[in-house]
Amino acid sequence: MSGVVIIGAGHAGSQLAVSLRAEGYAGAVMLIDAANTLPYHKPPLSKTFLKDPAALPQPLRAASAYDTVGVVRRTGTVSAIDTTAQSVTLDGEPLLYGDLVLATGAQNRMLPDLTGASNVYSLRDLADAERLRVALDSAQRVTVIGGGFIGLETAAALAAMGKSVTVLESAPRVLARVSAPETSNRVTSTLADLGVTLQAGFQAQGFRRAGDQVIAVEGAGGDIPCDLLLVGIGASATVHLAQAAGIACGAGILTNPHLQTSAAHVWAIGDVAETPNWLADGAAVRLESVQNATDQARHLARHLAGAKIGPFRTVPWFWSDIGPLKLQIAGLPLHADRRLVREDGARLAVFHLAGDRLVCVETLNSPAEHMIARQLIDGSHRPPDAILLDGPAAVKAWLAQGGKGVGVPQEQGKSAALI
Ligand SMILES: Cc1cc2nc3c(=O)[nH]c(=O)nc-3n(C[C@H](O)[C@H](O)[C@H](O)COP(=O)(O)OP(=O)(O)OC[C@H]3O[C@@H](n4cnc5c(N)ncnc54)[C@H](O)[C@@H]3O)c2cc1C
Repeated sequence: MSGVVIIGAGHAGSQLAVSLRAEGYAGAVMLIDAANTLPYHKPPLSKTFLKDPAALPQPLRAASAYDTVGVVRRTGTVSAIDTTAQSVTLDGEPLLYGDLVLATGAQNRMLPDLTGASNVYSLRDLADAERLRVALDSAQRVTVIGGGFIGLETAAALAAMGKSVTVLESAPRVLARVSAPETSNRVTSTLADLGVTLQAGFQAQGFRRAGDQVIAVEGAGGDIPCDLLLVGIGASATVHLAQAAGIACGAGILTNPHLQTSAAHVWAIGDVAETPNWLADGAAVRLESVQNATDQARHLARHLAGAKIGPFRTVPWFWSDIGPLKLQIAGLPLHADRRLVREDGARLAVFHLAGDRLVCVETLNSPAEHMIARQLIDGSHRPPDAILLDGPAAVKAWLAQGGKGVGVPQEQGKSAALI
């Protein structure tokens, strides 16, 4: 076939397939995935799915959404790409493409010391979640290695199931790579309220085994016994296919601002793509979020359908549900040099500023404030500090009055009258 071949039917690939048709693309569209499932929502896997033994995967869209627009879904693992012949190898057979889109996502990192242990799990896809859910039936003491989003969401979910949960984080605080200390502190105290034991600054010195099971994590202060170990130490982009095909890769598959890779007619979107980002002053950034995956897919669909559009540019945003906390992050704090913190009962907002630019806002349990933050980051002016600290009502009022404040344009030609 020619047309568009998409490798990976996750959030990015699935969105691209249907958006191509919605944008008027008339050529053939093939969506290939290694997993034999309808593309499904991944976020529930670490939040609600584990808690309910009867929970089913939530499809991103019904099978008919692909079938009725002529998207051909194929199950199988693509094993090679030939960018000269414009073909991929699927089940040993070559398959021609006009354009190829790599939406291969990311893979969990694993600790080498744990290879072969039968009670060690990680969580990336539906099969992982189903295995973990079965194993939890007979496990009471669960140790989570890694205090990132997936580790903490799962810890909160397991605590709610009555499990005895310990989280071990090597950094001095949880979420250290992605959030401000104020957010980490609030998450830490909430997890403690849920009964989760959290040890930050914990360096695992080894793992004690009995047969093929890990029975304890060894640390300087003593062993942490466990029935089940969940490793949540982050993920790396699934780049091996691209690398083997000679496509330029860094932490992900490198793209230009239009999502094109170093090979002609080959594109990358979603978790696997490392793309120049306006909030990083054009430096290439790899983001793992549903918003990034679906927005990149929609953008590329427009481009492949023939629309004359500019480079990919959105305000990145992300959410995480950790027990009763809804954490939302808009923007990127990469170049921030100061922050403002607003605490309001159960709500928290952390504003990251780079000079006079608002570049990132973290909120806890404050969805309206998150929505305003996305618009402010995208806009041309930001409110003075005092108004930001007054809360969302004050920001809305400021915007309603024309948004005259700290006047450093974040991008020329954008209006501040956004709400
Ligand atoms: C447990 C969990 C919870 C999450 N929670 C949140 C959240 O709360 N909020 C949020 O914004 N984000 C969350 N994320 C991240 C979000 O799910 C990802 O950013 C998103 O799935 C990225 O979409 P993608 O299409 O790029 O990759 P994926 O959804 O990972 O899809 C990649 C697909 O490519 C396929 N594939 C790879 N190689 C091949 C090959 N050679 N041949 C065929 N198929 C192949 C894989 O089978 C996979 O289905 C979560 C992720 C996980 C794992």
